[in-house]
Amino acid sequence: MHFDMKLNEIPFAMIADGSKTVELRLNDEKRRKIRIGDQIFFHSLNDEYDIIRCEVIDLHAYDSFEELYQHYSKEEMGYQADEIADPKDMYEYYSQEEVERYGVLGIRIRKLEKPYLIDGHMHLEYGPLTVDYVMDFVKEAFDKGLDEIDILDHSHRFVEFKGCYEHLRKYEQQDVWLNQKTKFCNTLEDYYRLIEEVRKKDLPIKVKFGLEVCYTSNTESLLKQILKDLKLDFITGAIHSTDSILYDMSFSKELLWDKKDAGEIYRRYYEEVLSLINSSLFDRLAHPDQIKLFGIDPGYDLKETYEKIADALLEKDMYAENNTGIKYRYHHDDLGIADEMLRIFKEKKVKMITASDAHKPSDVGTLIYEATLRNRRGHYER
Ligand SMILES: [Zn+2]
Ligand SMILES: [Zn+2]
Repeated sequence: MHFDMKLNEIPFAMIADGSKTVELRLNDEKRRKIRIGDQIFFHSLNDEYDIIRCEVIDLHAYDSFEELYQHYSKEEMGYQADEIADPKDMYEYYSQEEVERYGVLGIRIRKLEKPYLIDGHMHLEYGPLTVDYVMDFVKEAFDKGLDEIDILDHSHRFVEFKGCYEHLRKYEQQDVWLNQKTKFCNTLEDYYRLIEEVRKKDLPIKVKFGLEVCYTSNTESLLKQILKDLKLDFITGAIHSTDSILYDMSFSKELLWDKKDAGEIYRRYYEEVLSLINSSLFDRLAHPDQIKLFGIDPGYDLKETYEKIADALLEKDMYAENNTGIKYRYHHDDLGIADEMLRIFKEKKVKMITASDAHKPSDVGTLIYEATLRNRRGHYER
């Protein structure tokens, strides 16, 4: 079994560098289920996807923290050499009554090297909203050693969002695309029903559900109305068009790239990315530099743009995806976001999440391990 626990910055860093090897907790119902050999995923309080994987190697229950403190050295509990280990420190987290009721637990842990593997973006788009179809994704992920998958679908699957796409219909190719059977074919209620059914199952990995919402600045107020009532784990915002023209379709060459200056297209794309972030409607930014998908050079330096995006993401406390779809779906050289964007995101400590953009079960987890190593920062670098 595995357990999730949250940690403040300092103890998190000390587990990461190997100096803290005992975690102290209340021995409540949840903790009583822990056994030697189980895994604990420690999540940084600042970034739930900054995770250290540990194995439980020993467990001891005590009546109080006073008693527990007599059995471990202060260093292994996470104190510095010049600090005084005072059991009263633990009452910052737990009340006296709780300690009397449950007792406390010393958990000896060993840090494991395998990183937490998450695929934060995959679509049910080409299949039905059924538990069996979701289980195809879960099975694939489990077989590939992933710890978590986040399922989302495009907003254009759901009839509630129909009005947000009308502006695209002025171009015939886009009208035909929007009339496909896979568009606006379900309601959000259908999706909620599926999620409820999946949650009743005993799953071998963590599964979250969200949406990939097509954002445009001219539909922002409409989106705001729809998104305020959503009951999902997360909402990812994506830019798929600029000035009502999709940039990533086979017909986009004819409609957009052959007609407009590449630099202008890139500029409009990044203006829309910034409005998306500043709208405060989203938890995550999908594929931040997807505009590069055809490998067309913008003809200007993007460094300043990347910095602006990083600052906006930080201000809104949003995650940026590092989406491997660019490599295996569009055959671009980059494994995800551009090296320079990645460098700036790391430097500024933008929160990142790895994602495959799988559109079928067999693509789940594609290049996620490689992307995780590329994203690595903090405790993987030590
Ligand atoms: Zn997308
Ligand atoms: Zn997608």
